[in-house]
Amino acid sequence: MSLYGRAYRGVWRLRAGEWGTRFFSEAAVMASRERLPLAEQVAYQTRRLEALLTYAHAHVPFWRARLDQAGVDPHHVRLPDTLLALPLLTKAEIRAQGQALVAKPNGTGRLIANATSGSTGQPLHFWQDERFAIASHASRLRYRRWYGYDFGERIAFLWGAHRDTRIRGAREWLRRALRREQWVNAFRLDAAQMQQFAALLNNWRPVMVVAYPAALHAFARQVLQHGLRIHPPQAIECSAEVLWPEQRQEIEAALRAPVYDVYGSREFGSVAAECASHAGLHIFTDNQVLEVIRDGRPAQPGEIGEIVITGLTSFAMPLIRYQTGDLAVLDEGPCACGRTLPRLAQVVGRTNSVIALPNGRLVHGAFFSHLFRGQFGLAQYRVLQPALGEIQILLEGDDTLTPERLASIAATVRTQLDSVVTVSATRVAHIEPLPTGKMGYLISQVPVDLAGQTA
Ligand SMILES: [Zn+2]
Repeated sequence: MSLYGRAYRGVWRLRAGEWGTRFFSEAAVMASRERLPLAEQVAYQTRRLEALLTYAHAHVPFWRARLDQAGVDPHHVRLPDTLLALPLLTKAEIRAQGQALVAKPNGTGRLIANATSGSTGQPLHFWQDERFAIASHASRLRYRRWYGYDFGERIAFLWGAHRDTRIRGAREWLRRALRREQWVNAFRLDAAQMQQFAALLNNWRPVMVVAYPAALHAFARQVLQHGLRIHPPQAIECSAEVLWPEQRQEIEAALRAPVYDVYGSREFGSVAAECASHAGLHIFTDNQVLEVIRDGRPAQPGEIGEIVITGLTSFAMPLIRYQTGDLAVLDEGPCACGRTLPRLAQVVGRTNSVIALPNGRLVHGAFFSHLFRGQFGLAQYRVLQPALGEIQILLEGDDTLTPERLASIAATVRTQLDSVVTVSATRVAHIEPLPTGKMGYLISQVPVDLAGQTA
């Protein structure tokens, strides 16, 4: 760690007072638990879950009714049975209940409002507290330390969510400058933004880069195309969208640094992250209980299901068996790194980034990513499913995308999709990122409910 980084961390720690002390000590405690035997991890989770359910039962009438109805005694928790006895919590329920889900009286300090970006519909509002914020920041520091980064080092963001990139006033600017964070907006990654980002990497030399994979991939392609030389950071963290293998490959080639895939959300903070073994994402069992559910039962390892999370630090507004809308596959067996935290083999996408065919087959983004990989003259693609029997493919690229070639692509896709849908392929001038800055390669309007409960 650099001298400035070390000094900065010391000063920050003093200034942050109790908050800072708890932040660093929680990160250290989390790190110390990563290699405990699995049974100890489960015992710890069980105690934490008991505390959460007891609190929810005492302070939120909605949860008291739901726990009582399911016959769950919050003081006697068994994993996974206790959770499996409870229904899933849907986003529609949260919208309908609103403030009724907030714990009253609030014994957890000041409430902090948060919301999802709403990339797939209206934003969802919820409340968190200081305990959540500290645990969430500590967890992030814990896994970034796996990558050789520590608090106070230079870190650059290529990020898009409006809420994160907006700087509110001089104080925030100063805070970020001191904290050694630099942000480049991934909303509109034009030539000027790309140059700004290249200059940032080469002149400011961040230890770590955090980015949306699609935006960083677009940047990486420019770097490779123009033969630019980029000062390599120590690590690259990709999150907020699915990271495809070819994106990882090209980003690593362009920036000459390892890419780590991280899964998280506004509702729960960081949830799972890759270690240096790059063999799936370790789940942060100290902050949440993560289930992968298929048709109302736990999915088998290797089987796609929906991620359902219980936030162990979500006291302000308990989220118990929350249907995330994200799809993943669980892994099994030990990781070469020696950590015993269980792993997701892969996060597959959101439920609306999966196509359900009329014959019941599920097709996820990897199918198209694989199909379009290495297609000459193709810059960008987006696949839409406006109705069950209809697939539209938008392609951005050069003049080699002739009407004949488009027809041939459509025919190939139709065959591969069991010829049960109509497929069109259209060349477009430009494919815009979604309002959140994310790319959205596959967007379905036909809801899939893998978890087996209708929202
Ligand atoms: Zn590992």
